[in-house]
Amino acid sequence: MSELLYLDHNATTPIDPEVRAAMLPWLENEFGNPSSVYSLGRRSSAALTKAREQVAALVGAQPSEIIFNSCGTEATNTAILSALAIDPDKRHIITSAVEHSATIKLCEYLATRGYEITWLPVDNDGLLDPDKLETAITSETAVVSLLWANNETGVLFPIEEIAAITARKKVPLHLDAVQAAGKVPINLEELGAQYVSLSAHKLYAPKGVGALYVNRRARYTALLRGSQEESKRGGTQNVASIIAFGKAAEMAQCHLLAAAERIAKLRDRFEQTLLSSVEGVRRNGTDEPRLPNTSNLTFTGIEAETALLLFDQEGLCCSAGSACSSGSINPSHVLTAMGVTRDEARASLRFSLGRTTTESDIDRALEIIPRIISKLRAERPAGGSPVAIKS
Ligand code: PLP
Repeated sequence: MSELLYLDHNATTPIDPEVRAAMLPWLENEFGNPSSVYSLGRRSSAALTKAREQVAALVGAQPSEIIFNSCGTEATNTAILSALAIDPDKRHIITSAVEHSATIKLCEYLATRGYEITWLPVDNDGLLDPDKLETAITSETAVVSLLWANNETGVLFPIEEIAAITARKKVPLHLDAVQAAGKVPINLEELGAQYVSLSAHKLYAPKGVGALYVNRRARYTALLRGSQEESKRGGTQNVASIIAFGKAAEMAQCHLLAAAERIAKLRDRFEQTLLSSVEGVRRNGTDEPRLPNTSNLTFTGIEAETALLLFDQEGLCCSAGSACSSGSINPSHVLTAMGVTRDEARASLRFSLGRTTTESDIDRALEIIPRIISKLRAERPAGGSPVAIKS
């Protein structure tokens, strides 16, 4: 088996050794329920307090504004459903055509329950026009829910302008910052969004833990009823994973600027080399503003799903701009919304670098990718059974 070459950090990240070390005692002797009054429980509670401060610090929020939960998807569902529950007469939701499935699937479901959904378009570069948002808002709009950073292309939405518009129009704003947190600076105190989704497993912490930021001036109603998290999210907290999340947030904050600069240089070398040395390669999404770690490329004439299988044989992990469902390959909704044709979308790959990516990883990727692409093009029409690898 080839050595792992992991270029899929937008799907998930490996657990950092320091994060693992921080969480281990909470999987062993420190097993107390944070709601218990004896000292074993109080130590868990105190550890949650520290983690809340660490996560709050990463996003420029107050600790009381952070509600721990199970994942980014739960945070997004909770934010949107909370806004709808607060103002039940308002039945219009604004989102975009390039959101994560956490938002899309919920909005599609809400459409079947009689809600009106506006899917804002993006341009060929994946950028959103704030004027279109402003025009779409009506007196019926209950919530605006948009990505901060796109998980497939890394393109950043103009969140300051978006937040200024929703503030002016007095409409609650939810931002999905699952991909942005830890990769770009975030200051929620300045921004003034009402709800922001976060997830630990994109930050070198375990899967299955996340948080919803709720601005202390925003109205909010819980999705899961129970006494924990000050009744804002019922369910005994996943103490060890939350502590890992806190440590990961502290490390992300500490490394953020240096890591972003280093990773962007690696990403740019990777991308520029492929664009200049391989025929028929095109980048999807604007160069800037974009996450420093993400490169989404179309390799004309290949089948991305087959490329993934061949890359896998060499230890290289990345994602396809398409997903397999019910036996057929569906091109990415993000790429098609940007005007990429279905065939081009099916020939697109997402590479996402991370803190552990090295210069020699990039050298290796730059040896493997052109070789596999030439092989696939030489063997057209490509064979192999499709696989779904996307997040
Ligand atoms: N939002 C974005 C932009 C994501 O990339 C993801 C995960 O891929 C999520 C939400 C969902 O987060 P989680 O996996 O914690 O539910």
